[in-house]
Amino acid sequence: MTKPLIYDLSTAQLSQVLQELDQPAFRLKQLHQGLYNKLYTSFEEFDAIPKALRSALDERFTVEPLSVAKTLRSRDGNTEKKLFSLQDGNLIETVLMRFERRNTLCVSTQVGCPMGCVFCATGQMGFVRNLSAGEILGQIIHFQKELRAGDEALRNVVYMGMGEPFLNFPNVSQSLDYLSDPERLGLGARHITVSTVGVIPRIAQFGEQHPQVNLAISLHAPTDELRTRLLPANRQYPLEKLMQACRDYIAQTNRKLTFEYALIDGLNDSPEHARQFAQLVRGMLCIVNLITLNPSKKYATPGSPPARVQAFRDVLVEHGVRVTLRLRRGLEINAGCGQLASAENPN
Ligand code: SF4
Repeated sequence: MTKPLIYDLSTAQLSQVLQELDQPAFRLKQLHQGLYNKLYTSFEEFDAIPKALRSALDERFTVEPLSVAKTLRSRDGNTEKKLFSLQDGNLIETVLMRFERRNTLCVSTQVGCPMGCVFCATGQMGFVRNLSAGEILGQIIHFQKELRAGDEALRNVVYMGMGEPFLNFPNVSQSLDYLSDPERLGLGARHITVSTVGVIPRIAQFGEQHPQVNLAISLHAPTDELRTRLLPANRQYPLEKLMQACRDYIAQTNRKLTFEYALIDGLNDSPEHARQFAQLVRGMLCIVNLITLNPSKKYATPGSPPARVQAFRDVLVEHGVRVTLRLRRGLEINAGCGQLASAENPN
């Protein structure tokens, strides 16, 4: 039987455990330091606390939410993808992208995903289960430890891996609290981004609970007809309502929103699509991230060629939209979301 993950406990729950074990209150701080500062992966390592307490905790909990099943590195060494095995044997992926002094980690929030976006390997796997907050944090802690050993640091965390974060809102929300808590991992909220295909009811809740965390919307198409073909969730959350929710979010938080748009050759990348997109975001405090689609085994259409990307970008810029072009990373290691897990898990 698997033991509960200690990272899933709230401060109150951890204090309660310590009380039950007749421990003084200051042990909580020592535990937090071992977990989030020293990044220990076994209770044995907690040398600041008595041995008897380490054993008692070890009987009840585990500190290791995941183990590495496979590691792939891009040829230039700048992109590293890990396939992690969870305690129950399910597989998830996490990708580290090294930019100069901006190491960015892309974490998963679910095993599989129910959203079924047609170009996404995770979407084609279907949904298995939500990750707990501790399993989300475990991915970050693993890479933090690895980076620290190489005298590097993690600068940004993006919730853009396997799964739709807003369908796992309570656990994602708890992980955001712990990630940005100075007493825990202490990453500035503005260095964290959560990406959604647009689960409208959660957008306002996210703005209320995490106003400093960045929000990205995966748009990928400027009309309902095309977007529903690519992202079936658009049927439930159509563009007009989604854009209204985005405007409300900006008014609520006064934060800039990011729209992600994966350019797919001949499908959503014409100048007319760009004009329609510009109309949608007109006057909004936002930035558009363009990226060419990562090819995957089950979705044959390639990403747009450079000339079409440039033309698309130019139209947006002409309409006053702020645009960034994101580099496609780690092609040779299947860095696109879910590609490695679906290859390892052929169901
Ligand atoms: S793109 Fe994101 S939301 Fe869509 S199926 Fe893939 S993981 Fe799920």
